[in-house]
Amino acid sequence: MAIDKTDTLIIGGGQAGIAISEHLSRHDVPHIVLERHRIAERWRSQRWDSLVCNGPAWHDRFPGLEFAGLDPDAFAPKERVADYLAAYAQKINAPIRTGVEVLKVSRHPDRSGFIVETSAGAFQAERVVAATGPFQQPVIPAIAPKDDALLQIHSAHYRAPEQLPEGAVLVVGAGSSGVQIADELQRAGKRVYLSVGAHNRPPRAYRQRDFCWWLGVLGEWTASAPKPDAAHVTIAVSGARGGHTVDFRALAHEGLTLLGSAQAFERGMARFAPDLADNLARGDANYLALLAAADAYIQRNRLDLPEEPAARHIPPDPECVTRPILELDLAAAGVASIVWATGYAADYSWLQVPAFNEQGQPQHQRGVSSEPGVYFLGLPWLSHRGSSFLWGVWHDARFIADHIATQRQYAAYRDAGQRAQP
Ligand SMILES: Cc1cc2nc3c(=O)[nH]c(=O)nc-3n(C[C@H](O)[C@H](O)[C@H](O)COP(=O)(O)OP(=O)(O)OC[C@H]3O[C@@H](n4cnc5c(N)ncnc54)[C@H](O)[C@@H]3O)c2cc1C
Repeated sequence: MAIDKTDTLIIGGGQAGIAISEHLSRHDVPHIVLERHRIAERWRSQRWDSLVCNGPAWHDRFPGLEFAGLDPDAFAPKERVADYLAAYAQKINAPIRTGVEVLKVSRHPDRSGFIVETSAGAFQAERVVAATGPFQQPVIPAIAPKDDALLQIHSAHYRAPEQLPEGAVLVVGAGSSGVQIADELQRAGKRVYLSVGAHNRPPRAYRQRDFCWWLGVLGEWTASAPKPDAAHVTIAVSGARGGHTVDFRALAHEGLTLLGSAQAFERGMARFAPDLADNLARGDANYLALLAAADAYIQRNRLDLPEEPAARHIPPDPECVTRPILELDLAAAGVASIVWATGYAADYSWLQVPAFNEQGQPQHQRGVSSEPGVYFLGLPWLSHRGSSFLWGVWHDARFIADHIATQRQYAAYRDAGQRAQP
């Protein structure tokens, strides 16, 4: 059977796969992108219906194309993001083959490079780039109750309030997904309980600049590693309803019940850690620290941006914070469903090369794997805070494409004896 050959094979046709295709084309590196579904599939079918970007359109994009017909300060709806990426792929003429699933990548037994087995036959490539996403497999923690009476879904499978049964809902996880879904459910008239763990919550905007701008000028986006105490802290932001600062206390004053971190579910009872006030306080500290850094930046650079003292107002603690609920009888509270906004894990079972550490995580430096010829792109903190985001992945892709181009130069080197041969 004929084998398709190329220099670099990219697995995944999301923003990461498209970005690296652009940079490889600039280097004239022959390559193919394989995508098992459609271009930018996850933006189409693995996000809830009302999702808009967390960053404004001027920020959450590639450098070479703006969102046509969208106010730069608006937040692109998820379908617009998918359409944007499809248009971008067309604009750069990316060699993407959709509907092709990569089943196995292994070293070629007889020569350099890799054999790539797919649903559409085998490929041979000198290099492979794993661009299968920062958020691959939805994770529901093992504490989830084994209770058939409750509907339990992961945020990746949540679409809209109508999907949930009548009754109250418990949302676990207060990163951007959890808090946005909880807010939407409350606005749809549902009784909502929200389990809040450690989080950062930057202001949506401060002194007429969006937080994306602030993170940029303050060097936070390009920070090369999470601060030691912030390694697993999720960020709670929202572009919904034109964009607003996530304020857990304000949600509670509107009727939502805040809870601490979910700890266990037993015989119909849910138990929560007594950490709610502490989690909110640390979120406040992160929020106020950004305001202080922004003020200092404005002063140092003599910027003419109006002061905003009201941004420092933090609403009083609602009762669910001062008298936290540590145990909730789910049936008595009328909870009929749980939405787990508890994050994702990676699945590289198809990548059968020794490129992983003992915990199964990719071993790499800025995406260049310890296994020659293997690259990772789009992972959280691949090289900096922005690595898993739309704007940031483009820059990591450029670095990896440069690396590939340089390696091709080494491979093409011939010594004097070889050059003398006809
Ligand atoms: C709810 C949510 C909201 C987000 N909002 C924003 C935002 O506002 N702004 C922002 O910048 N970022 C946002 N992100 C983060 C990030 O931009 C997205 O996760 C984005 O989808 C990552 O793009 P990617 O190309 O790296 O991976 P993905 O979009 O996950 O693309 C990987 C592709 O690989 C394909 N694939 C996987 N396995 C195989 C295989 N074996 N063979 C072939 N193809 C395969 C998949 O079908 C998929 O299309 C958000 C993430 C989530 C979960």
